Amino acid sequence: MIPISRRQGCFLLLGIVFLLIVSSSVVSTTAVVAGRNTNRAAITSLEDIPVLNYHKIDNYYHALSIPPEEFEEQMAYLAENGFTTITPDQLMAYLNYDKALPEKPILITFDDGYSDNYTNAYPIMKKYGFTATIFLVTSKIGQEENFMTWDQVRTMQKDGFVFGSHTVTHAALTKVSHEQAMAELINSRKELEQQLGVKSRFFAYPTGAYNIQSEEMVKQAGYRAAFTIRYGQAGVESNPYALERIPIFRGQHTFRSFFVRLNAAPVLERFGLIRN
Ligand SMILES: [Zn+2]
Repeated sequence: MIPISRRQGCFLLLGIVFLLIVSSSVVSTTAVVAGRNTNRAAITSLEDIPVLNYHKIDNYYHALSIPPEEFEEQMAYLAENGFTTITPDQLMAYLNYDKALPEKPILITFDDGYSDNYTNAYPIMKKYGFTATIFLVTSKIGQEENFMTWDQVRTMQKDGFVFGSHTVTHAALTKVSHEQAMAELINSRKELEQQLGVKSRFFAYPTGAYNIQSEEMVKQAGYRAAFTIRYGQAGVESNPYALERIPIFRGQHTFRSFFVRLNAAPVLERFGLIRN
């Protein structure tokens, strides 16, 4: 990620404040309309759900590594602002069947299954009463030092954490043969079910790469939904096999970037700027 200079940051913040002010007037207008309208679909179309995407929570100087203190700052912000974490099942029940969600729902996800998710992120999330969904590269779990063990995964599962597939070997589905892609999808799902005793229904595309063919394969392999790294919120208009997320990166001003990326998404979407 390109570091934001102080001046650019100021402009960015001013822009966001402006958009938030404009959007709050849009919200108050639509709230009146929604109040008169008993059609729930008209209301839900306004409520897109943020899905955060993290990778590592540690002190490596890398865009995908968020230092634990900064991760805690972000979780504290979510707690102070009344966010409630939800599961992908809750998200899909809401998007497909209009099933009610708690106030200010947010889905927090991690990709790959690094051991710091257990040692660093898990205690912080527990402290704030949050859960996450972690997409595992199944061949690395319990095999590579950097990754969680299946026992750690099961411990988190008991606390309400959900585990999905991120393939067996972290293969980008668009770069391998059809047979190989199907094997990656099916075998990782089987391994997850065997290790965790529950059906695994959610998938995240390694490297974010997907196309119509890979969406179809994910569906065929028995998954209910799949997440990309395309910036945006998951809403009723989203493709369930290409759900948007809000990737969180480490930068010069990690919290500011987190704040802007989280709060700008609904505004940008309202103005049709990030979803086609
Ligand atoms: Zn990955």
